[in-house]
Amino acid sequence: MITMEALVAAISARIDDYNQTDLPQALRPTIRLPLLESLNHILAVDVAAPFDVPRQNVSAMDGYAIAKGSSIAKEGKISIIGESQAGRAFIGNLRAGEGVRIFTGAVVPSDCDRILIQENTDFASIRHQIDKSKPYDITITELPSSDDHIRRQGEEITQGAVVLAAQKRLNPTDISLLANLGIAEVSVFKPLTVGLLATGDELVEIGGKLDSLAQIYNSNTPTLKSLLKNLPVTINDYGIIADNKAATMAAVKRAMKDCEVVISSAGVSVGDYDFLTYVIDEVGKINHYKVAMKPGKPFVFGELSYELSVPVLYFGLPGNPLSAVVGMLQLVIPALWQLSGAAKSELPKPLMFQATVTQDLRKAPGRKDFQRGILSQNAQGNYEVKGCPNQQSHRIKQLSDANCLIVLDKDAGNVQAGESVLVQPFAWYYQ
Ligand code: AMP
Ligand code: MG
Repeated sequence: MITMEALVAAISARIDDYNQTDLPQALRPTIRLPLLESLNHILAVDVAAPFDVPRQNVSAMDGYAIAKGSSIAKEGKISIIGESQAGRAFIGNLRAGEGVRIFTGAVVPSDCDRILIQENTDFASIRHQIDKSKPYDITITELPSSDDHIRRQGEEITQGAVVLAAQKRLNPTDISLLANLGIAEVSVFKPLTVGLLATGDELVEIGGKLDSLAQIYNSNTPTLKSLLKNLPVTINDYGIIADNKAATMAAVKRAMKDCEVVISSAGVSVGDYDFLTYVIDEVGKINHYKVAMKPGKPFVFGELSYELSVPVLYFGLPGNPLSAVVGMLQLVIPALWQLSGAAKSELPKPLMFQATVTQDLRKAPGRKDFQRGILSQNAQGNYEVKGCPNQQSHRIKQLSDANCLIVLDKDAGNVQAGESVLVQPFAWYYQ
């Protein structure tokens, strides 16, 4: 049985190849999206600044813009002849010895070469007497520092400079940058179409009625959709597929026609009613089957190619909801990001770190184990983790109670309280 690390490497190598030969960047379809809908999408082209930032010389402080050539001396006076507000620039000329009242972000008149901050003047004592309708004097109470407090035009970004490169995954601070530049629409790669199949005669869609005690709700499809919410994908839900070969074959053929990726849950074990592996073998190939991880052993990575020029990548998750979640987090989601067209440096990495175990953990050597845990910070700020009381893999409430996975190496045995282990927090518990 392949180790999880080897399977991760094999999937990643196949997707590298896919990105180079099956769907190279140049052939990827692109779409235009309003900026507000572009979060987590992948930029398809470089974005250049439409103007300089700052657009003009602007003040970094509240105070007074002082005309060039003015003498700056303690107890010296400057005649204030107007005002430059953010959004409303001063219009007119200044001579040495003159200045204008100015505020942070307001345009510095071209005749001025420094901002005298108001703390270095008698502003505080005269502010209530000032009549802005005519010129008035301010007195310099402190000699200013050498900083002129002017943000120069183009100091940060020059017009035409690339501010975000193609293959960038757009995050909220990128949206801020683009909004600052007035960019209302962006070109991004068309989201991958991902088909979801849930197999099993026992399944009923939520909202439906369980007619017999043998039936259960299809929880995997809503789970998978939630896990995929932040990815640049479009989901095609093919519903529940009956446990027979004809239905499975028809569903897989339908999905492979319309999708770039197909993800199924259940039906990949070795039960009498598990037909998926036979069907995948007929319309494509299984690259890997079964991985030394717990939960999630009966995982399939394959591709579907029957009557297709570009193969469709296939991930077969186990049916058990916990196994499906762990398989998604560890194997499928990283693969989908890699397929998204994002640059390597833009791929989100799993957050993992060491924490001290507060109670013994049971673990048999042989498979890499993802136990459910409760992570917390102690009074010193150090991370501690305890395993959920029952690690049986069909326990779904336990999974919802947990806030992390405890990642135990394939060859590890039992872990004693006080030892350090690797934890992978669930992203949705942290911000
Ligand atoms: P299988 O892989 O088909 O043997 O399924 C393993 C276990 O997962 C069985 O107990 C199934 O009833 C359960 N299961 C399969 N599919 C789903 C699903 N979509 N939602 C919830 N449980 C499922
Ligand atoms: Mg089944």
